Amino acid sequence: MEQQICLLAAYGWRCHFVCAEHIVCNNICLFCSMKIIQRVPSVNYHLWQPCNMKCGFCFAAFDDVRKDVLPKGHLPKNQSLEVVGLLAEAGFKKINFAGGEPLLCPWLSKLIIHAHDLGMTTSIVTNGTKITQQWLDSVHGKLGWAALSVDSVNMETNQSIGRVYQGKSLSIDQILQTTALLKNNGVRLKINTVVCSKNKTEVLSSFIEKAMPERWKIFQVLPVKGQNDARIEEMKVSEDDFLNYIKINESVRLKGIVMVPEANDDMTDSYIMVDPAGRFFDNSGGGYKYSQAIASVGVRAAIGQTKISAEKFLSRDGLYRW
Ligand code: SF4
Repeated sequence: MEQQICLLAAYGWRCHFVCAEHIVCNNICLFCSMKIIQRVPSVNYHLWQPCNMKCGFCFAAFDDVRKDVLPKGHLPKNQSLEVVGLLAEAGFKKINFAGGEPLLCPWLSKLIIHAHDLGMTTSIVTNGTKITQQWLDSVHGKLGWAALSVDSVNMETNQSIGRVYQGKSLSIDQILQTTALLKNNGVRLKINTVVCSKNKTEVLSSFIEKAMPERWKIFQVLPVKGQNDARIEEMKVSEDDFLNYIKINESVRLKGIVMVPEANDDMTDSYIMVDPAGRFFDNSGGGYKYSQAIASVGVRAAIGQTKISAEKFLSRDGLYRW
Protein backbone atom coordinates (compact mmCIF):
# COMPACT_ATOMS: atom_id res chain seq x y z
CA MET A 1 0.00 0.00 0.00
CA GLU A 2 1.34 3.44 -0.87
CA GLN A 3 1.84 5.54 2.25
CA GLN A 4 2.21 9.26 2.63
CA ILE A 5 2.99 11.32 5.68
CA CYS A 6 -0.11 13.25 6.63
CA LEU A 7 0.39 17.01 6.60
CA LEU A 8 -1.30 17.34 9.98
CA ALA A 9 0.96 14.67 11.40
CA ALA A 10 3.98 16.48 9.98
CA TYR A 11 3.09 19.37 12.32
CA GLY A 12 2.61 17.01 15.22
CA TRP A 13 -1.21 17.05 15.14
CA ARG A 14 -3.55 14.10 15.04
CA CYS A 15 -6.87 13.72 13.30
CA HIS A 16 -9.32 10.88 13.78
CA PHE A 17 -8.21 9.18 10.55
CA VAL A 18 -4.49 9.16 11.26
CA CYS A 19 -3.12 5.84 12.45
CA ALA A 20 -0.71 5.35 15.31
CA GLU A 21 2.32 5.73 13.02
CA HIS A 22 1.05 9.10 11.82
CA ILE A 23 0.72 7.60 8.37
CA VAL A 24 -2.18 8.24 6.06
CA CYS A 25 -3.07 5.34 3.85
CA ASN A 26 -6.60 4.66 2.64
CA ASN A 27 -8.18 7.21 4.93
CA ILE A 28 -7.21 10.72 3.95
CA CYS A 29 -7.91 13.33 6.61
CA LEU A 30 -10.02 16.37 5.78
CA PHE A 31 -6.95 18.58 5.53
CA CYS A 32 -5.21 16.21 3.11
CA SER A 33 -8.39 15.75 1.07
CA MET A 34 -8.37 19.47 0.24
CA LYS A 35 -4.82 19.04 -0.93
CA ILE A 36 -5.63 15.97 -3.03
CA ILE A 37 -8.29 17.88 -5.00
CA GLN A 38 -5.72 20.60 -5.74
CA ARG A 39 -3.33 17.96 -7.05
CA VAL A 40 -5.95 15.84 -8.82
CA PRO A 41 -8.48 18.43 -10.01
CA SER A 42 -10.27 16.10 -12.44
CA VAL A 43 -13.17 13.81 -11.59
CA ASN A 44 -15.01 11.12 -13.57
CA TYR A 45 -18.72 11.02 -12.76
CA HIS A 46 -20.24 7.71 -13.93
CA LEU A 47 -23.73 9.07 -13.60
CA TRP A 48 -25.66 6.47 -15.61
CA GLN A 49 -25.38 2.71 -15.17
CA PRO A 50 -27.49 1.59 -18.17
CA CYS A 51 -25.75 1.15 -21.50
CA ASN A 52 -26.91 0.19 -24.97
CA MET A 53 -23.82 -1.93 -25.66
CA LYS A 54 -22.44 -5.01 -23.92
CA CYS A 55 -18.66 -4.89 -24.15
CA GLY A 56 -17.31 -8.00 -22.44
CA PHE A 57 -14.48 -6.12 -20.68
CA CYS A 58 -16.66 -3.25 -19.43
CA PHE A 59 -15.06 -1.76 -16.28
CA ALA A 60 -18.21 0.23 -15.54
CA ALA A 61 -21.02 -2.31 -15.56
CA PHE A 62 -22.10 -1.32 -12.01
CA ASP A 63 -24.49 -4.27 -11.73
CA ASP A 64 -23.44 -4.36 -8.06
CA VAL A 65 -24.54 -0.75 -7.56
CA ARG A 66 -27.85 -1.40 -9.25
CA LYS A 67 -28.48 -4.54 -7.21
CA ASP A 68 -27.35 -3.19 -3.84
CA VAL A 69 -28.30 0.49 -3.64
CA LEU A 70 -29.71 1.99 -6.80
CA PRO A 71 -32.29 -0.17 -8.64
CA LYS A 72 -32.72 2.32 -11.51
CA GLY A 73 -28.97 2.68 -12.00
CA HIS A 74 -28.97 6.46 -11.67
CA LEU A 75 -29.88 9.24 -9.24
CA PRO A 76 -32.88 11.48 -9.87
CA LYS A 77 -32.09 14.65 -11.84
CA ASN A 78 -31.99 17.02 -8.85
CA GLN A 79 -29.68 14.76 -6.89
CA SER A 80 -27.25 14.39 -9.78
CA LEU A 81 -27.24 18.18 -10.23
CA GLU A 82 -26.48 18.45 -6.52
CA VAL A 83 -23.51 16.06 -6.87
CA VAL A 84 -22.11 18.18 -9.71
CA GLY A 85 -22.55 21.33 -7.61
CA LEU A 86 -20.77 19.78 -4.62
CA LEU A 87 -17.84 18.61 -6.79
CA ALA A 88 -17.42 22.12 -8.25
CA GLU A 89 -17.65 23.72 -4.82
CA ALA A 90 -14.95 21.37 -3.50
CA GLY A 91 -12.52 22.64 -6.14
CA PHE A 92 -12.60 20.19 -9.06
CA LYS A 93 -11.69 21.96 -12.30
CA LYS A 94 -12.71 19.30 -14.81
CA ILE A 95 -15.56 16.82 -14.84
CA ASN A 96 -15.86 13.88 -17.18
CA PHE A 97 -19.38 12.45 -17.52
CA ALA A 98 -19.31 8.70 -18.14
CA GLY A 99 -21.58 5.73 -17.69
CA GLY A 100 -22.74 3.17 -18.79
CA GLU A 101 -23.66 5.40 -21.67
CA PRO A 102 -24.13 8.95 -20.39
CA LEU A 103 -26.12 10.11 -23.42
CA LEU A 104 -28.96 7.82 -22.35
CA CYS A 105 -29.50 10.25 -19.47
CA PRO A 106 -32.24 12.70 -20.55
CA TRP A 107 -30.79 15.46 -18.37
CA LEU A 108 -27.12 15.06 -19.33
CA SER A 109 -27.19 18.44 -21.13
CA LYS A 110 -28.41 20.11 -17.92
CA LEU A 111 -25.55 18.55 -15.96
CA ILE A 112 -22.99 19.70 -18.55
CA ILE A 113 -24.38 23.24 -18.57
CA HIS A 114 -24.46 23.32 -14.76
CA ALA A 115 -20.86 22.10 -14.52
CA HIS A 116 -19.67 24.57 -17.16
CA ASP A 117 -21.45 27.47 -15.50
CA LEU A 118 -19.79 26.55 -12.20
CA GLY A 119 -16.40 26.94 -13.90
CA MET A 120 -15.47 23.35 -14.69
CA THR A 121 -14.13 22.06 -18.01
CA THR A 122 -16.63 19.48 -19.21
CA SER A 123 -16.10 16.20 -20.99
CA ILE A 124 -18.05 13.06 -21.88
CA VAL A 125 -17.05 9.47 -22.61
CA THR A 126 -19.48 7.99 -25.10
CA ASN A 127 -19.91 5.04 -27.43
CA GLY A 128 -21.18 7.54 -30.01
CA THR A 129 -24.55 5.95 -30.76
CA LYS A 130 -26.58 8.90 -29.48
CA ILE A 131 -24.54 11.89 -30.67
CA THR A 132 -26.75 14.06 -32.89
CA GLN A 133 -26.70 17.66 -34.06
CA GLN A 134 -29.78 18.30 -31.95
CA TRP A 135 -28.05 17.03 -28.82
CA LEU A 136 -24.92 19.04 -29.60
CA ASP A 137 -27.09 22.14 -30.03
CA SER A 138 -28.35 21.57 -26.48
CA VAL A 139 -24.78 21.84 -25.08
CA HIS A 140 -23.43 24.40 -27.53
CA GLY A 141 -20.48 26.27 -26.03
CA LYS A 142 -20.71 24.24 -22.81
CA LEU A 143 -19.17 20.90 -23.73
CA GLY A 144 -15.38 21.01 -23.91
CA TRP A 145 -14.38 17.47 -24.85
CA ALA A 146 -15.79 14.18 -26.06
CA ALA A 147 -13.95 10.87 -25.78
CA LEU A 148 -15.33 8.43 -28.31
CA SER A 149 -14.82 4.74 -27.52
CA VAL A 150 -13.47 2.89 -30.56
CA ASP A 151 -11.75 -0.46 -30.05
CA SER A 152 -11.77 -1.66 -33.63
CA VAL A 153 -12.96 -0.79 -37.11
CA ASN A 154 -13.47 -4.46 -37.90
CA MET A 155 -17.13 -5.48 -37.60
CA GLU A 156 -16.33 -9.06 -36.53
CA THR A 157 -13.92 -7.87 -33.86
CA ASN A 158 -16.54 -5.49 -32.49
CA GLN A 159 -19.09 -8.31 -32.51
CA SER A 160 -16.73 -10.54 -30.53
CA ILE A 161 -16.08 -7.77 -28.01
CA GLY A 162 -19.79 -6.97 -27.67
CA ARG A 163 -19.33 -3.38 -28.91
CA VAL A 164 -22.55 -3.51 -30.91
CA TYR A 165 -25.70 -1.45 -30.92
CA GLN A 166 -28.98 -3.05 -31.97
CA GLY A 167 -27.02 -6.06 -33.18
CA LYS A 168 -24.56 -4.13 -35.38
CA SER A 169 -21.24 -2.44 -34.86
CA LEU A 170 -20.84 1.15 -36.07
CA SER A 171 -19.17 1.41 -39.47
CA ILE A 172 -16.02 3.46 -40.07
CA ASP A 173 -18.12 6.00 -41.96
CA GLN A 174 -20.56 6.34 -39.08
CA ILE A 175 -17.73 6.84 -36.61
CA LEU A 176 -16.00 9.40 -38.84
CA GLN A 177 -19.29 11.27 -39.29
CA THR A 178 -19.59 11.45 -35.51
CA THR A 179 -16.01 12.69 -35.05
CA ALA A 180 -16.61 15.36 -37.72
CA LEU A 181 -19.89 16.40 -36.08
CA LEU A 182 -18.19 16.83 -32.73
CA LYS A 183 -15.36 18.91 -34.19
CA ASN A 184 -17.70 21.04 -36.30
CA ASN A 185 -19.52 21.89 -33.10
CA GLY A 186 -16.36 23.03 -31.38
CA VAL A 187 -15.97 19.93 -29.19
CA ARG A 188 -12.38 18.73 -28.71
CA LEU A 189 -11.92 15.08 -29.59
CA LYS A 190 -10.32 12.15 -27.83
CA ILE A 191 -10.55 8.51 -28.81
CA ASN A 192 -10.47 5.78 -26.17
CA THR A 193 -9.39 2.27 -27.13
CA VAL A 194 -9.25 -0.80 -24.90
CA VAL A 195 -6.70 -3.37 -25.98
CA CYS A 196 -7.94 -6.91 -25.38
CA SER A 197 -7.37 -10.36 -26.86
CA LYS A 198 -9.75 -9.59 -29.72
CA ASN A 199 -8.03 -6.49 -31.11
CA LYS A 200 -4.46 -6.76 -29.81
CA THR A 201 -2.88 -7.08 -33.26
CA GLU A 202 -5.08 -4.58 -35.09
CA VAL A 203 -3.43 -1.61 -36.76
CA LEU A 204 -5.91 1.14 -35.98
CA SER A 205 -3.54 3.99 -36.78
CA SER A 206 -4.84 4.74 -40.29
CA PHE A 207 -8.36 5.17 -38.89
CA ILE A 208 -7.01 7.32 -36.05
CA GLU A 209 -5.15 9.51 -38.55
CA LYS A 210 -8.41 10.08 -40.41
CA ALA A 211 -10.35 10.89 -37.25
CA MET A 212 -7.49 13.11 -35.97
CA PRO A 213 -8.28 13.29 -32.26
CA GLU A 214 -6.09 15.52 -30.10
CA ARG A 215 -5.52 12.59 -27.75
CA TRP A 216 -5.72 8.83 -28.22
CA LYS A 217 -6.02 7.02 -24.90
CA ILE A 218 -5.12 3.34 -25.09
CA PHE A 219 -5.94 1.12 -22.14
CA GLN A 220 -4.77 -2.39 -21.35
CA VAL A 221 -7.96 -4.29 -20.57
CA LEU A 222 -8.32 -4.23 -16.79
CA PRO A 223 -9.78 -7.06 -14.72
CA VAL A 224 -12.12 -5.55 -12.10
CA LYS A 225 -13.73 -8.00 -9.68
CA GLY A 226 -17.49 -7.69 -9.72
CA GLN A 227 -17.51 -5.74 -13.01
CA ASN A 228 -16.18 -7.91 -15.81
CA ASP A 229 -15.61 -11.36 -14.24
CA ALA A 230 -17.71 -13.24 -16.80
CA ARG A 231 -15.49 -12.64 -19.84
CA ILE A 232 -12.23 -11.20 -18.55
CA GLU A 233 -10.25 -14.43 -18.73
CA GLU A 234 -10.80 -14.75 -22.50
CA MET A 235 -10.15 -11.02 -23.03
CA LYS A 236 -7.01 -10.38 -20.95
CA VAL A 237 -3.74 -9.41 -22.65
CA SER A 238 -0.19 -9.46 -21.32
CA GLU A 239 1.86 -6.31 -20.87
CA ASP A 240 4.01 -7.44 -23.83
CA ASP A 241 0.91 -7.67 -26.03
CA PHE A 242 -0.08 -4.21 -24.88
CA LEU A 243 3.35 -2.75 -25.61
CA ASN A 244 3.30 -4.40 -29.01
CA TYR A 245 -0.05 -2.74 -29.76
CA ILE A 246 1.47 0.65 -28.93
CA LYS A 247 4.42 -0.12 -31.19
CA ILE A 248 2.36 -1.15 -34.23
CA ASN A 249 0.20 1.96 -33.91
CA GLU A 250 2.68 4.61 -32.88
CA SER A 251 2.88 6.26 -36.32
CA VAL A 252 0.02 8.50 -35.14
CA ARG A 253 2.56 10.44 -33.10
CA LEU A 254 4.08 11.73 -36.33
CA LYS A 255 0.73 13.39 -37.08
CA GLY A 256 0.80 15.30 -33.80
CA ILE A 257 -1.75 13.08 -32.06
CA VAL A 258 -0.92 12.63 -28.37
CA MET A 259 -0.86 8.92 -27.64
CA VAL A 260 -1.60 8.13 -23.99
CA PRO A 261 -1.03 4.44 -23.18
CA GLU A 262 -2.27 3.20 -19.81
CA ALA A 263 -1.26 -0.27 -18.67
CA ASN A 264 -3.09 -1.89 -15.76
CA ASP A 265 -0.85 -0.36 -13.10
CA ASP A 266 -1.26 3.15 -14.56
CA MET A 267 -5.04 2.79 -14.34
CA THR A 268 -5.04 1.74 -10.68
CA ASP A 269 -5.53 4.49 -8.04
CA SER A 270 -4.93 7.22 -10.63
CA TYR A 271 -8.53 8.37 -11.19
CA ILE A 272 -10.98 10.11 -8.87
CA MET A 273 -14.28 8.47 -9.72
CA VAL A 274 -17.90 8.86 -8.64
CA ASP A 275 -20.40 6.03 -9.12
CA PRO A 276 -24.04 6.28 -10.30
CA ALA A 277 -25.16 6.50 -6.64
CA GLY A 278 -23.02 9.61 -6.06
CA ARG A 279 -20.23 7.92 -4.08
CA PHE A 280 -16.49 8.06 -4.68
CA PHE A 281 -14.95 4.72 -5.51
CA ASP A 282 -11.50 3.32 -6.15
CA ASN A 283 -10.07 0.18 -7.69
CA SER A 284 -7.12 -0.34 -5.37
CA GLY A 285 -8.23 -3.78 -4.16
CA GLY A 286 -8.89 -5.29 -7.58
CA GLY A 287 -12.62 -4.51 -7.29
CA TYR A 288 -14.51 -1.32 -6.50
CA LYS A 289 -14.67 0.06 -2.98
CA TYR A 290 -17.31 2.76 -2.46
CA SER A 291 -17.38 5.69 -0.04
CA GLN A 292 -20.44 7.06 1.70
CA ALA A 293 -22.66 9.25 -0.47
CA ILE A 294 -21.19 12.65 -1.27
CA ALA A 295 -24.55 14.34 -0.70
CA SER A 296 -24.76 12.83 2.82
CA VAL A 297 -21.26 13.41 4.19
CA GLY A 298 -19.76 16.02 1.83
CA VAL A 299 -16.99 15.74 -0.76
CA ARG A 300 -14.08 16.02 1.62
CA ALA A 301 -15.22 13.35 4.04
CA ALA A 302 -16.26 11.01 1.22
CA ILE A 303 -13.03 11.40 -0.74
CA GLY A 304 -11.14 10.56 2.44
CA GLN A 305 -12.66 7.09 2.24
CA THR A 306 -11.06 6.30 -1.13
CA LYS A 307 -7.53 5.78 -2.34
CA ILE A 308 -5.95 8.04 -4.94
CA SER A 309 -2.35 8.63 -5.89
CA ALA A 310 -1.60 12.12 -7.17
CA GLU A 311 1.76 10.85 -8.44
CA LYS A 312 0.10 8.21 -10.60
CA PHE A 313 -2.46 10.74 -11.85
CA LEU A 314 0.39 13.01 -12.96
CA SER A 315 2.48 10.22 -14.42
CA ARG A 316 -0.40 9.03 -16.63
CA ASP A 317 -0.60 12.60 -18.03
CA GLY A 318 -3.87 13.35 -16.21
CA LEU A 319 -3.02 17.05 -16.01
CA TYR A 320 -2.92 18.24 -19.61
CA ARG A 321 -4.05 21.49 -21.24
CA TRP A 322 -7.80 21.00 -21.09
S1 SF4 B 1 -20.05 1.12 -24.30
FE1 SF4 B 1 -18.77 1.60 -22.52
S2 SF4 B 1 -20.15 1.51 -20.75
FE2 SF4 B 1 -21.18 0.48 -22.47
S3 SF4 B 1 -20.69 -1.68 -22.23
FE3 SF4 B 1 -19.16 -0.80 -23.62
S4 SF4 B 1 -17.45 -0.20 -22.26
FE4 SF4 B 1 -19.26 -0.51 -20.95
